[in-house]
Amino acid sequence: MDKKIIFVSGGILSGLGKGITSASIASLLKHANNKVNMLKIDPYINVDPGTMSPTEHGEVFVTYDGGETDLDLGNYERFLDINLPRKSNFTTGSIYQSVINKERRGDYLGQTIQVIPHIVDEIKSRILNACDDDSILIVELGGTIGDIEGMPFLEAIRGIKQELGEHQTMSIHVTLIPFIKSAKEFKTKPTQHSIAELRKTGIYPDMLICRSEYKIPDSIKDKLSKSCGINKEAIIEASDAPTIYQVPLSFLEQNILHPISKKLQITNSNSNMDKWYSLVDKIISPKKNIKIAFVGKYMSLKEAYKSLTEAIVHCGAHLDTKIDIEFIDSDEKIDINQLKQCSGILVAGGFGLRGMDGKIEAIKYARENNIPFLGICLGMQLAIIEFARNVLGVKEANSTEFEKDSKEDFIYLIDKFINSQGEHQIRTHTSPMGGTMRLGEYICDLKKDSLIYKAYNNASTIKERHRHRYEVNPKYREALEDKGLIVSGLSNGLIDAIELNNHKWFVGVQFHPEFTSHLEKPNEIIYEFIKMSGKS
Ligand code: GLN
Repeated sequence: MDKKIIFVSGGILSGLGKGITSASIASLLKHANNKVNMLKIDPYINVDPGTMSPTEHGEVFVTYDGGETDLDLGNYERFLDINLPRKSNFTTGSIYQSVINKERRGDYLGQTIQVIPHIVDEIKSRILNACDDDSILIVELGGTIGDIEGMPFLEAIRGIKQELGEHQTMSIHVTLIPFIKSAKEFKTKPTQHSIAELRKTGIYPDMLICRSEYKIPDSIKDKLSKSCGINKEAIIEASDAPTIYQVPLSFLEQNILHPISKKLQITNSNSNMDKWYSLVDKIISPKKNIKIAFVGKYMSLKEAYKSLTEAIVHCGAHLDTKIDIEFIDSDEKIDINQLKQCSGILVAGGFGLRGMDGKIEAIKYARENNIPFLGICLGMQLAIIEFARNVLGVKEANSTEFEKDSKEDFIYLIDKFINSQGEHQIRTHTSPMGGTMRLGEYICDLKKDSLIYKAYNNASTIKERHRHRYEVNPKYREALEDKGLIVSGLSNGLIDAIELNNHKWFVGVQFHPEFTSHLEKPNEIIYEFIKMSGKS
């Protein structure tokens, strides 16, 4: 098969769900027995999103090979049940970085380095590199048509469309059809403008995905077809859905693969979504209901914990249970009455001192009241600190993240760390922020018959993804174990999982299990936590 690429762009405004759209189309293609691959290209200047605040940009998604990437990669993995490498996301910053590195090395032999051709060629070659001959590549362009920094990306897309054959590329534009309540009318004008803007760059869209609050009438589709020059069968509606996992099903009902397979000459166009239908059915109308306390500090933007909240949805779908999440801001004084209404307590990861006391209080409550508890990354580190302070009686116990010169540094900076590539990383309090964390997948050896061992179906080793700088200090291991804390997971000698035995279910993990949870295959430890929380 020739290379096949679908480009997805967005118009009018951000937040229309281009990522979900791209993932949904990819999922349908995959479930029709096609090999698919995904690429997110981001015009912003950061080299990667690793240094961006989760409250501004949402979660930083970590790939198995340690890439800190855009959260849309998480959507792709969740919808496609695949693991993508870090090269599945790149930004303007990383493009410039490699072009400038080449220039410094003298690779350009005296040329003047310019946006066209050098920057655009670098973008083109990264896109083409991500595209195997036997699979369909879906490329989502970040930002909105009209953004200044998006121009080189659009030029790269135009160039690739020109170079490859007519049936090798396709362009899909995601747009908004607003409904003006007072006039009771859908409006197509913003879309017409957005298409005109896209066409100015030399890209003619083959399909329109119309986001809208309500179902779009046929007459509006006719109008869009005429004014935008797109076949009516390729005008697909994406009205608000009760769950994002409904989107591929709604596309399937509109026969979206018909125009796609016609344009790209794909023969496999019958998606088998039976299992998906039944999971979505359980998300929309579940039999059971439980409430989980989610204690974190980035509560103003739910996207900051995207993978974790989605992982909870996946577990709910498999347990036929609606999981109400009670978001508890650890920055505020913890309201114990709020915790009392919940059958499980989850303390999420995070950085910095803010909200620490609230999290420790919630952990103490879970430990003392036999409430199922899962602590993730910082959540596990704080579970150790809580245990040290309140069970071991070491009131000064702390993490050097919060108290640099702590005498009781239960959580500390390991100064000589060897990463998964075998490279030495020196970590100090003055190391740069970018690229100095334990990132990506590491093997964790599980203690036989522990809670975590059972959760992972009696696996003696697992692989999960990390994103943190600090570690549990092994010099306290014996003291912790003497008082009943169990070290149930070790990663190359580092403490990776802990649990308590005189408790209904209390587990802490240093890794981020949420990054490997997919709708069709929820993450094991989160699943077990939800299951135990639902058990009376
Ligand atoms: N701040 C902690 C660390 O860097 C935990 C990070 C996290 O929860 N992702 O080790």
